[in-house]
Amino acid sequence: MWIDSLGRDELVVEHQRQSANYEALVDAELALNLTRGKPSPEQLDLANGLLALPGEEDYSDPDGTDCRNYGGVEGLPALRAIFGELLHVPTANIIAGGNASLEIMHDLIVFSLLKGAHDAPRPWSQEPGVKFLCPSPGYDRHFAICEQYGIEMIPVPMLEDGPDMHRVAGLVASDPSIRGMWAIPNYSNPTGAVYSEDVVRELVSMPAAAPDFRLFWDNAYAVHSLVGEPAPVLDVLGMAAEAGNPDRPYVFASTSKITFAGAGVGFFASSAANLEWYLGLVGKKTIGPDKVNQLRHLKFFGDADGVRTHMERHRELLAPKFRAVIEILEDRLGANKAASWTTPEGGYFISVDVAEGTARRVIDLAAGAGIALTAAGSAFPYKNDPTDSNIRLAPSYPSLGELRTAMDGVATCIVLAAVEKALA
Ligand code: PLP
Repeated sequence: MWIDSLGRDELVVEHQRQSANYEALVDAELALNLTRGKPSPEQLDLANGLLALPGEEDYSDPDGTDCRNYGGVEGLPALRAIFGELLHVPTANIIAGGNASLEIMHDLIVFSLLKGAHDAPRPWSQEPGVKFLCPSPGYDRHFAICEQYGIEMIPVPMLEDGPDMHRVAGLVASDPSIRGMWAIPNYSNPTGAVYSEDVVRELVSMPAAAPDFRLFWDNAYAVHSLVGEPAPVLDVLGMAAEAGNPDRPYVFASTSKITFAGAGVGFFASSAANLEWYLGLVGKKTIGPDKVNQLRHLKFFGDADGVRTHMERHRELLAPKFRAVIEILEDRLGANKAASWTTPEGGYFISVDVAEGTARRVIDLAAGAGIALTAAGSAFPYKNDPTDSNIRLAPSYPSLGELRTAMDGVATCIVLAAVEKALA
């Protein structure tokens, strides 16, 4: 970093300069927010056609099911076929549920704790301890579920092509209390990393000490590319079956960031045995999902190409925002190397690593200047970023103008915090 080359006097001058920049930022009285991994209003507008669907006289699906009534806990087959195609899963192996995939993940953990999976010797709650591997940085809500239910989280480093497999394979093979691992295989939250085929093959085939070890395969961003050619969605179920571990992956996806966040459809894909077990339990919780919403989505998209075309419209709105963030980071922090960052080709986030020990300070400085950033440590189990260096940026929600202003301000805070640290 350029600071390392500065003598004490030069540092004092630099500190005065950066403090003045920061004062000017505070004087601007901004009120901007980079915490929200939410679609912008313009992105939501893309799906406004849903609001008029399925239409007053139109309530049956192509199989003749009256969607107004109870039943069909596995969801509408025609919609399952569309998302099965996008996720490379046969229709028989995917179910369409309620409005959120996170709810399905949560339920699977609770069901595993209370009842145990079909291949578990006993419910997890009767085990002396249950642990999950957590590639980090990762998704805070995954970690929050584990924390809520007393599942011990073991962080493993997230690399450019997936988690550190040396660590993962060693731990999973040797510790029978490790029952699961979180994975966001495509455009991971928050780094944007895409798991390579080699990593996926190893994950589905590596020996596991626990008889019911599961990959919680959250493909939330499977079709959310920011570039022309999306990363391939690998057939993780087929690969697992081929490797002799057909029950290992639990695959999740949803339309939350395709249509309406919170009013979309969540999906769960897995082996026949896992689905039978899950549906048996979920059938006690609900007589069926919201099929009218599923029908609405079916009519809106028509087929898998309908989803792909729709995602191109999202890309047109999102890609310039990601470009703007990267441009400002390059411009302000590229030469002085005050931070490093990921350049995702999809998903919703950019992960920035600032000078060690300064992430918390950067976030506080930004808050003081009216720019809300995601809380320090959020992307780590127990909110514990061991080097206090990671910040998650969410460029989707603000307008392009707001985003540029906010990012410029964030860059000022990053530099000031680095100079402060060097002077301390
Ligand atoms: N999974 C990941 C990796 C996410 O980033 C998010 C939302 O940010 C979700 C799941 C939430 O999905 P849903 O709205 O289907 O619960």
